[in-house]
Amino acid sequence: MKSPYFTTEHNAFRKRVRDFISKEVIPFADMWEDERFVPKTLWQKMGEQGFLGINHPKNDGGSEMDFFFSVVFLEELGRTGYGGFRVAVAVQAYMATSFIAHAASEELKRKYLSPAITGNKLAALGITEPNAGSDLSQIQTSAVREGDNYIVNGTKKFIANGTKSDFVVLAVRTAPSKDTQRRGATGISLLIVDTASEGLSAKKLDNIGWYCSDTAELYFNNVSVPVENLVGKLNHGFYYIMQCFQLERLVAGILALGGIDCCLEITRQYLTQRKVFNSPLSSFQALRHRMADLVTDVEAVRQLIYHTAWLYQEGELPIAECSMAKLKATELANRVVDECLQFHGAYGYQEKCAIARIYRDTRAGTIAGGTSEVMREIIAQIVLGEVKVAV
Ligand SMILES: Cc1cc2nc3c(=O)[nH]c(=O)nc-3n(C[C@H](O)[C@H](O)[C@H](O)COP(=O)(O)OP(=O)(O)OC[C@H]3O[C@@H](n4cnc5c(N)ncnc54)[C@H](O)[C@@H]3O)c2cc1C
Repeated sequence: MKSPYFTTEHNAFRKRVRDFISKEVIPFADMWEDERFVPKTLWQKMGEQGFLGINHPKNDGGSEMDFFFSVVFLEELGRTGYGGFRVAVAVQAYMATSFIAHAASEELKRKYLSPAITGNKLAALGITEPNAGSDLSQIQTSAVREGDNYIVNGTKKFIANGTKSDFVVLAVRTAPSKDTQRRGATGISLLIVDTASEGLSAKKLDNIGWYCSDTAELYFNNVSVPVENLVGKLNHGFYYIMQCFQLERLVAGILALGGIDCCLEITRQYLTQRKVFNSPLSSFQALRHRMADLVTDVEAVRQLIYHTAWLYQEGELPIAECSMAKLKATELANRVVDECLQFHGAYGYQEKCAIARIYRDTRAGTIAGGTSEVMREIIAQIVLGEVKVAV
């Protein structure tokens, strides 16, 4: 049956991504997990394949393909079953770099976006701070203008690609917030900071999952950043964050969906192979029906995600749907992996079992990129007419 979303070109592209992943990612991913980062050579290989610029403009070296090529790519990243790998790539290709594509000068695009697309520069996105996660009005990292530079001081926390990145797209306070009603929507700007800058240091954090995502804390001690590295307009950072976060949330939903597919496929095989009471697990109705319920819920979420992707492709900024997509996919992923681990019995509880890794990795989904509580709050504000956005 012809899909309303995917053409034969999308399907051929999916095969190309799968082939690449089976050859260049899966055989090495456990080693990257142990080493806690993805090596530079892999970024370059992905760049050569055009995988880091699918959604970026041709002018900057991207391929500007329709958004369903991104859906394919992100689903396949999710289906690797390595949460750390998938988020490291998504930060590079969709999260940090989307701010540059969206608002930066041509010079900044040439200097940072184009080499990120070829895989020659690795990007990080530095928004969260020790005291500012859900509430971005609390951002304290300051950038004070001195001549032709900003002097940056502060700390960023939980930053993926943190110790290995070449540059970080950084949210900084450039003015005190004047707007007490809208909770700090003013006075935040975005700067691109070279991580080799004097005064910038990084410390790896010990996540319980996403091992190869290189999550870190970044310290800025009188870091000098040229004023040309301002992304877009001064004090417009909050506005850019709200725009680019919609894509980030949709991306998180698609990655979670791919992760669910991987988890269910591993479990389907296990249920047919493992024998208990002289029968395969798949013969027990208590397990069969739970599998049926999970797969049914997954297909419902898949349609929400594809619909949201279609709205996004049509040029809308579907704020409510992006939050719904992230909320439903990441919460369902937690439920699916919890059930799938249960179906594996004690084998699923072993450190080196794929389901155990997926269990650890999946848990971050409802926190990173905006928590489930924040997603619900956004949806509620829209539904209750408290913000002017069409549902
Ligand atoms: C593995 C990982 C990688 C990450 N990578 C990055 C990155 O690359 N770059 C980056 O900038 N950030 C990153 N983050 C940070 C992430 O975006 C934040 O963790 C997230 O926004 C939540 O902030 P917080 O952890 O400070 O929680 P808090 O804001 O302290 O919230 C704590 C709890 O309170 C709830 N809560 C907060 N406000 C409300 C409310 N109004 N109503 C109800 N409940 C509320 C939250 O939902 C949460 O459950 C990452 C996080 C993780 C876990």
